Amino acid sequence: MGLASTGDRFHVYDTTLRDGAQQEGLSLSVHDKLAIARHLDELGVGFIEGGWPGAIPKDTEFFKRAQTELGLSNASLTAFGATRRPGVRVEDDPLVRALVEAETPVVTLVAKSHVGHVKRALRTTLDENLAMVAQTVAFLAGLGRRVFLDAEHFFDGYRRDPGYALAVVRTAAEAGAELVALCDTNGGLLPDDVGEIVAAVNDGTGIRLGIHCHNDTGCAVANSLAAVDAGATHVQGTLNGYGERTGNADLVTLVANLELKRGLQVLPDGALREATRIAHAVSEVTNVVPYSRQPYVGASAFAHKAGLHASAIKVDPDLYQHANPEQVGNDMRMLVSDMAGRASIELKGRELVSRVTDRVKALEAQGYTFEAADASFELLLRAEADGVSPQFFEVESWRVITESRPRSEAQSEATVKVRAGGERAVVTGEGNGPVNALDHALRTAIGTLYPEIDKLELIDYKVRILDAAHGSDAVTRVLVEMTDGKNSWETVGIGANIVEASWEALVDGVTYGLLRQGAELPR
Ligand SMILES: [Zn+2]
Repeated sequence: MGLASTGDRFHVYDTTLRDGAQQEGLSLSVHDKLAIARHLDELGVGFIEGGWPGAIPKDTEFFKRAQTELGLSNASLTAFGATRRPGVRVEDDPLVRALVEAETPVVTLVAKSHVGHVKRALRTTLDENLAMVAQTVAFLAGLGRRVFLDAEHFFDGYRRDPGYALAVVRTAAEAGAELVALCDTNGGLLPDDVGEIVAAVNDGTGIRLGIHCHNDTGCAVANSLAAVDAGATHVQGTLNGYGERTGNADLVTLVANLELKRGLQVLPDGALREATRIAHAVSEVTNVVPYSRQPYVGASAFAHKAGLHASAIKVDPDLYQHANPEQVGNDMRMLVSDMAGRASIELKGRELVSRVTDRVKALEAQGYTFEAADASFELLLRAEADGVSPQFFEVESWRVITESRPRSEAQSEATVKVRAGGERAVVTGEGNGPVNALDHALRTAIGTLYPEIDKLELIDYKVRILDAAHGSDAVTRVLVEMTDGKNSWETVGIGANIVEASWEALVDGVTYGLLRQGAELPR
């Protein structure tokens, strides 16, 4: 366990699922959180903070499901929670109990380290706060958990009363905390301030330090780097810089800077090359449009202005870019070489690769995305390799109407006309929405011929309206996730409206599912 190539000497700690989820407009289901955790594990982070069990019901469920559904190969799962409440015994605090029940190898406790916050927000005494830190850390460490401490508002607290802020750090370490992460919770600091204070704490205590920065001055990544320069060996951040207000330190930028600019290996070998793909795949799960100017992994990060530089770039790209985009997987639509069908592409040789690349580029220009739609990509690969798309049924037409009556829920009715097994079927299906109705109609139409369809279930559905390209209307993109009870896969569809896009994704999802079930393709 742990980072195979970097050991425990440097920690990359992700808090997308806890602090990142505070972002305005971002709402993650338990299913989403599990999917993001898998992506983070693939990126090779050492720790994934899953949420606050006990305080947030969805997070309690996440940790429960993670025990059986999440097999992590790099990362250790971490539960977040507060020190015990003032005036109660640690073993009687229900939130501390919930941390234990989350059964994670690591627990991160947040504690106050600012005298003003202890008195006014916590409404307790400075001594009681130290007792809360000591007893909660010791209790969890005594149960065999690795305990990290997040010292909230540390920098502001240190400026107000450095002696007390340091006492919190020392108390935690003496009670058994492995490290103390210093938090710029209000995000108001600049790099020189952070460097100075981290160096002072490092010199004054010798305790292992971490850094947790918010981006309110636009310096979260720079502040984190300053902390590392001053001796911190544990960095916290979120994928794509998600977080409340202006966000947290963008873990992707931070890690790329540490590896490529500081020469510090913090991820397993080769993992950084997956950064672009993973950053984009996570944005499909969060349904937050990727920021094209995001450093390293944004679509524009290595896009050069045409004209003066264009010909010179061809001669020597190093003259015009600060890093090689391949190091972060951001070259020329990294998709083809990185996706699931890699082995089969390589076998079919270069010609197929270039055909698939062209096809992917053309489809992406229309609004498709394949980073999160593994099944659609595999269908596309098969089509290019075999010269024909796998097709269990031929769609003649479909139609759906939605009826709304006063005092009753809207109902949809779909009519689907398909040809399958030499027969033409015209069937209707009802549902609580147009996609549901189409799904039912399609199942009826081909269920006799392909009974395997009964095993397939639509489990997730995401819609994104893409900005209109030049001179055209906005495009709707739908990602559908289906399962056969054992595995799940995602497909993509686009269209002028949600129903059209959904139908395409649905047909792909069913086709892929039938292939997986071993249904026989008509000759
Ligand atoms: Zn925070």
